[in-house]
Amino acid sequence: MALRVYNYLTRQIEEFIPLHEGWVGMYVCGPTVYDHAHIGHAKTYVSMDVILRYLRYLGYRVRYVQNITDVGHLLDTGEDRILKGAARERMEPMELVEIYTRSYFEDMDALRVTRPDISPRASGHIPEQIELVKQLLARGHAYEADGSVYFSVESFPGYGKLSRRRVEEQLEGVRVEVEPGKRHPADFALWKRAEPEHIMRWPSPWGWGFPGWHAECTAMSTKYLGQPFDIHGGGVDNLFPHNECEIAQAEAATGQPFARYWLLAGTLTVGGVKMSKSLGNFVTIKQALERFRPEAIRLFILNGHYRSRLDFTEEALEAASGGVERLHSAVAALRDRLRAADDRGEVDTAWAERLAEVRARFGQAMDEDFNTAGALAVLFEFTREVNALLASGASVNQATLAAIDGLYRDLGETVLGLIPDPLPRQAGAGLEDALVRLLIELRQEARQQKDWARADAIRSRLAEIGIILEDGPEGTRWRLGR
Ligand SMILES: [Zn+2]
Repeated sequence: MALRVYNYLTRQIEEFIPLHEGWVGMYVCGPTVYDHAHIGHAKTYVSMDVILRYLRYLGYRVRYVQNITDVGHLLDTGEDRILKGAARERMEPMELVEIYTRSYFEDMDALRVTRPDISPRASGHIPEQIELVKQLLARGHAYEADGSVYFSVESFPGYGKLSRRRVEEQLEGVRVEVEPGKRHPADFALWKRAEPEHIMRWPSPWGWGFPGWHAECTAMSTKYLGQPFDIHGGGVDNLFPHNECEIAQAEAATGQPFARYWLLAGTLTVGGVKMSKSLGNFVTIKQALERFRPEAIRLFILNGHYRSRLDFTEEALEAASGGVERLHSAVAALRDRLRAADDRGEVDTAWAERLAEVRARFGQAMDEDFNTAGALAVLFEFTREVNALLASGASVNQATLAAIDGLYRDLGETVLGLIPDPLPRQAGAGLEDALVRLLIELRQEARQQKDWARADAIRSRLAEIGIILEDGPEGTRWRLGR
């Protein structure tokens, strides 16, 4: 059985064969740090995280590089979001990017997204980007005009091979800025001349300026992974022009192929439409985490295929929360039994076979272009069997319980990041729950006796220690407040 992936470069499912046996170099386009990350970022980076986790689970040694775009780049509108943000918040641009870089990692840590091995910052790799521009000039793929340097798309026949667009099509729907000295409207900036009021600027052979956005990813991926390298990931919305330009720069500069497999995550919509601040449907990761467990957000994302578009709705998140609760309560019950078990024994033969089968089916799903939805279906079906076993009262020895727990640890946690150890404290388990339920009952009695003062006191005293009561149609539930 071999891992097969959908490669955007060839638009085909292909067997994954890394350049060097046992090793994988993986680069993923990181965030531009001018604001808090939103749930669209969660979709991309949780998807990439599970790809990384699965490769490591298969035994590959992966070097995972993800950049931080902390140098502003010009949008089609001519606006530079980092400089704009810095002006808005009256900060140095480097102060702004520091704040949002920290915020990004806080969010990713909360979502239990594995940290990259290297997080290169664009601002820390200006010499490498200048070097790339010099190489492109020397090989006749770029030209200087008025202190800026542009890539000549006509000089590189491979331009368009990832996005499958011809140069003429590339201009459709793109607002073309009037840039003095640009020879072809599709040419893109490798280096932009900057006036003194542009605070983020550096000296170069072409005067003061700053690199074009695409330059950083080419320069930093190849610096840390070599060229060619195995996997280039990110969000599919960067396919064009960003990823296309990365390829053109890298391949024109060296004559060597760039990334071998392009794995791109589909976009996230909110209520069916693209998220945007002006539409008021913009949800930050921090806002989502106030309402849903990190594992619920992960499960919601992994219930879809990473390449597919995903719609963020309350109902989908609620359903994912319920799913996580089922998973966690099964594992909690299993671990309680395991702690209490005293007969070591051998793994039961029938269960050993069943576990091997579940692992194999989970692997088959994941091997087919990381079909996490299929893998989750296997895990949830298995969880029903585990619940039935635990509820049956049948005696199960310690070795069997440990083997079942081992499967949850490998597949549920190592690969999917859904079952942390220790499990999050949750309503509905253990002594804590029994005690809170007792207080809920006493409060209910007080209310029946119209002793509102006592009922309110129970609620507010619980709130003081971080336990929130929520009255609903099915009675009172409790949760831990933040
Ligand atoms: Zn990039």
